[in-house]
Amino acid sequence: MVCIGSSMELNSILERAEFKELPSDPVERVYRALEKIEKNRDLNAFVTVDAEGAIKKAEEIKRKITRGEKLGVLAGLILAVKDNISTRGLRTTCSSKMLENYIPVYDATVIEKVKAEDAIIIGKTNMDEFAMGSSTETSFFGPTRNFFDHSRVAGGSSGGSAVAVACDAVDIALGSDTGGSIRNPAAFNSIVGLKPTYGRVSRYGLIAYASSLDQIGPMAKNTLLTTLLLQVIAGRDLRDSTTLNKPVPNYIEEVLKEKDGIRIGVIKEGFENVDEKVSRKVYDALDILQKIGCVIEEVSMPFMKYALPAYYIIAMAECSSNLARFDGIRYGGKPVKGKWEEQLVKIRTECFGEEVKRRIFLGTFVLSAGYKEDFYIKACRVRRKIHDEFKFLLKSYNALATPTMPVLPWKIGELLSPLEIYMMDIETVAVNLAGLPAISIPAGFIGSLPVGLQLIGDHFDEATLLRISYAYENESGFNKWF
Ligand code: GLN
Repeated sequence: MVCIGSSMELNSILERAEFKELPSDPVERVYRALEKIEKNRDLNAFVTVDAEGAIKKAEEIKRKITRGEKLGVLAGLILAVKDNISTRGLRTTCSSKMLENYIPVYDATVIEKVKAEDAIIIGKTNMDEFAMGSSTETSFFGPTRNFFDHSRVAGGSSGGSAVAVACDAVDIALGSDTGGSIRNPAAFNSIVGLKPTYGRVSRYGLIAYASSLDQIGPMAKNTLLTTLLLQVIAGRDLRDSTTLNKPVPNYIEEVLKEKDGIRIGVIKEGFENVDEKVSRKVYDALDILQKIGCVIEEVSMPFMKYALPAYYIIAMAECSSNLARFDGIRYGGKPVKGKWEEQLVKIRTECFGEEVKRRIFLGTFVLSAGYKEDFYIKACRVRRKIHDEFKFLLKSYNALATPTMPVLPWKIGELLSPLEIYMMDIETVAVNLAGLPAISIPAGFIGSLPVGLQLIGDHFDEATLLRISYAYENESGFNKWF
């Protein structure tokens, strides 16, 4: 059980999170959520809706309330889960034809944790196939649509989770972030999305894309719900040896602390190649932070521009190895007649989408003898440089700021070349290379389209990011914008 601390009981947390109705009737809340999902079906946020499971859980919570039993800290909250996080008995597809009918026999650690805290899992959300993409357009189940403009992309790869939150179908959602997949759709749908420090949250049961970069994280409409979900999922897990044995702070208490004197370095290079309107909105948000007592200064990170090529080399190299298991025998596809090699080729050709295959090819290439030194090893050196630059700046600043995305959400199908889409990750990938935590918070709208501000913190200092986000939320009122 998660201990939030006596000073901060569940009810007061939820009150602060603007939740007046909890935990009155969780079953009714589930029916309302199902209605919302139905109403927003055209947004294509969900791959699988588990109405039966959700109602069963809600009834269990109701019984606990009647009997006066202790409730978990997420009791009654409706949760959506990205479809690359394993859920026992509930289809987990990675939005790929390869896993179209895959039903895991075990829960990811984060799922065990949220279940123990009485969250109600309502379904699995749409994503780019195997989390490879920035717009949820590579999903086998078709793109998720942006909440604010249905002709535009939701961002990605956790597009379904972000839209499920934005359309109020769920209170909280889990996403995963390898190079921006939580922050990007959070920005494109005006919600909060946090990518925790590498090693803060267990990856056990997360279907791997690039294991040295992947992290699971929380998404919600406001800072406190995001914080609450982080509180539940954070911590060491013996089943994931990359999680660290570091105590998990009481994030809720941390978030409510005074924020005076926080120093924020604005990364100059983060504003290059950015739509001017987007930059202006982000500067406006920084003005608000200054107004509430943060010290804002410009800083430089010359190596940032090399993050994108380094990221794509490393991510593709790791994915080519991680996806080798999908051979139609151990996982994926349907058995076909003939020799094993023929079956392997047939199934991988048919069941992987174009983008996934492109990355497996490129990843295999950059790791191959004769090329490894030129690509993979060089990319790893750049990764170290980026890490060192961040660490140097974070000695003098509590957080660093950039726009989350360089542009506004684009029209579905508008960006045709893979390179054009890779370029959309220029602000987010450096963070994953360095293993740092980062948050995207709503910075306002241009017309009807939202902009996100990205704040990057030092390793294991999620609390500072959430504290800034909470103070900014109170000043800007972003939790009431829609
Ligand atoms: N857009 C990036 C990629 O395609 C990041 C995806 C992610 O974070 N899962 O690799």
